[in-house]
Amino acid sequence: MLEPGGIPVVWCPRYEVDIGAHVFPVEKYRLIKERLDAAGALARADLRTPQPARVEDVLRVHTESYWTKIAEGTLTPDEERLLELPFSSELREASLLCAGGTTLTGQLAISQGRSVHLGGGFHHAFADHGEGFCLLNDVAIAAAALIEAREVDRILIVDLDVHHGNGTASIFAKETRVFTFSMHHQWNYPAVKPPGDLDVGLDDGVGDEEYMQLLREHLPRVIEEHEPQFILYLAGADPYEADQLGGLGLSLEGLRERDEFVLDTAAEAEIAVAVTLAGGYAMRPSDTVAIHCGTVEAALA
Ligand SMILES: [Zn+2]
Repeated sequence: MLEPGGIPVVWCPRYEVDIGAHVFPVEKYRLIKERLDAAGALARADLRTPQPARVEDVLRVHTESYWTKIAEGTLTPDEERLLELPFSSELREASLLCAGGTTLTGQLAISQGRSVHLGGGFHHAFADHGEGFCLLNDVAIAAAALIEAREVDRILIVDLDVHHGNGTASIFAKETRVFTFSMHHQWNYPAVKPPGDLDVGLDDGVGDEEYMQLLREHLPRVIEEHEPQFILYLAGADPYEADQLGGLGLSLEGLRERDEFVLDTAAEAEIAVAVTLAGGYAMRPSDTVAIHCGTVEAALA
């Protein structure tokens, strides 16, 4: 199924936007690429850089009034507080590139079986507003673009970031061609969790064993029942036991096992899978980088 050029890896140096002192480690995008390069992990990968998402792609999932505020830089102070990031034209450009990047990753996965985006997973952006560090929902923009282009008509979003995928669930609430599956820490942001197609909320400190038991129980069943042609995987690093914004208790090994299980399950079912990184706020930023690199290495293995 894979072409000789290797597994496509989409990356872009412009994701590292200056947001001042912040818990979101924007430098992770550069550090992940550097670490993978140093380890020789990308030697056989097919490296691609994205084009920004087009306005028509954005407007498939976001409202015109919200997009106008982004385009003109006229978010109100309340909207910026909800976003929890300082708005800038660089942030807008990075968010458009990221949405284009996840869309490209999806297209490459569908044509070649598997692909990885060294970015993406901004699942807290709603149709009409951004929140929780997410200006534009690249996951929703990509899924909607792939459906519009008739590349696929049944998509499964597997969202294993520690936070519920509220924006994505809300955007696709009435879209039967997209199944949203989120496994997250129940007692964490976002306080209000709009129902997805399958939401598995976990208690404080759930560790590797219980987590994997639940994932093994749910993922194959969802695949069997929904029969997706394509999986968009949000491999958040924040279920990690030492994450500052987490609440679960997964170890580094447990996270690697999680990634391998998702990838293997998709491969066994012969379903194309595109990987995005999503969140990660470990006490030690190097842990976040290591977890994301583990995900990428699992995908490239
Ligand atoms: Zn998160």
